[in-house]
Amino acid sequence: MPRLYDAIIVGAGPAGALLGWLLATSGLNVLILEKQRLPRYKPCGGGLTRRALDLLPFDPAPVVEDLARRAVILLDGRPVFETLEREPVITLVMRDRFDHFLARRAEGAGATLKDGLAFRGLSGSFGRLEVATSAGTFHGRLIVGADGASSPTARALGLWSARRVFSALEAEVDFDRPETLDRFRGAVHFDFGLPPQGYAWLFPKAGHVSMGVLTRCMALKNLRPWFQAYLQTKGLDRETTVRSLRPHLIPWGSGSGGRLADDRGLLIGDAAGLTDPITGEGLYFAFREARLAAGVIREALDRGGAYLRRYEGLMRREFRIELAWARALAFLLYRMPGLRRRAFDIHGPGLGRRLLDVFAGRTSYRNLALRVLHPASLKALASPRSRRTI
Ligand SMILES: Cc1cc2nc3c(=O)[nH]c(=O)nc-3n(C[C@H](O)[C@H](O)[C@H](O)COP(=O)(O)OP(=O)(O)OC[C@H]3O[C@@H](n4cnc5c(N)ncnc54)[C@H](O)[C@@H]3O)c2cc1C
Repeated sequence: MPRLYDAIIVGAGPAGALLGWLLATSGLNVLILEKQRLPRYKPCGGGLTRRALDLLPFDPAPVVEDLARRAVILLDGRPVFETLEREPVITLVMRDRFDHFLARRAEGAGATLKDGLAFRGLSGSFGRLEVATSAGTFHGRLIVGADGASSPTARALGLWSARRVFSALEAEVDFDRPETLDRFRGAVHFDFGLPPQGYAWLFPKAGHVSMGVLTRCMALKNLRPWFQAYLQTKGLDRETTVRSLRPHLIPWGSGSGGRLADDRGLLIGDAAGLTDPITGEGLYFAFREARLAAGVIREALDRGGAYLRRYEGLMRREFRIELAWARALAFLLYRMPGLRRRAFDIHGPGLGRRLLDVFAGRTSYRNLALRVLHPASLKALASPRSRRTI
């Protein structure tokens, strides 16, 4: 008799690895399938916010590259906010090491990890699924798609739907002179307005920096000139080596409208199509969804496959309101440049501070939006001379 796993998780990124750990620590028999050999390079800023870290059941200190206590926000090339905090605003990791660390934790808790083999398709029903891979067939009671933005599992489950996406271009940047890194150590930079309808970022790592640009404007087909412009604005267009420069898509919507579960399985992480509609931060969502999914899966294994469908309603309840506010703010930030400039002129430091509070989980986009869209704030936005903070 082939082994029957309680759950088969496709993808050993942060979403799949954390879910594997959560299920294995509650005594379930879990298989994680990963297409690539671990550790593998994953294009990502590798920025972990406090709200994301708070969802991790263990300390990632062994794989932390830098701690950013300074945050700098620019708008259209003008500094609008800078702060030096006592606590890190963002914790920086390289995703090859971080994801491997999480996958090893899941293995340590008892999950079986098979890397270097790709999910191909599935058949059967809840309780007795056959999962075909590039290296044979595995049997599980249910399946989880944690296989990233283009999720073959979502397609196989018939849960794939069109997503709204950011188009991004990211690279690792090495310095010919190691001392150049000292200018960037311990600080994260967000440059809104470069490129249009998006922002650029610079995140320091132990021996280099990760830099990228993203936009919501799908008409901007080629982001390379914007990446080059960003290197120039940071004085990094010379004496540097740019490696792993590639385009990527980051999904930022559809999860609440799209299907996320059926009687055989469910989707988490980028496979579910949700990230922060303003920043593209996905790790926080991946961890939150893994936690939500773990509870649903434990119940479904007792009650039957139909229970898995509850996950969709839970996700909606968990994220709908917050994401609606975040999308409204994203619209203001990315689609209304005049109003955005005015909002930052008037509220610059307050907006920067509150954005960091969202990263830290101390406030929500709803509270931030209610401040910006408060009648007094709107009146200030309409008045040419007003200057106050929120
Ligand atoms: C350029 C860029 C910068 C980003 N910066 C940040 C940031 O700074 N902070 C942040 O929070 N988020 C960031 N994100 C978003 C973040 O990277 C994602 O939200 C996060 O990786 C989602 O994790 P995941 O586990 O769902 O998917 P992934 O990390 O994509 O993992 C999915 C895994 O599934 C595997 N897989 C795929 N197909 C198969 C298959 N057929 N069979 C088996 N395995 C398969 C893949 O190899 C991969 O290992 C960024 C994204 C991009 C593109």
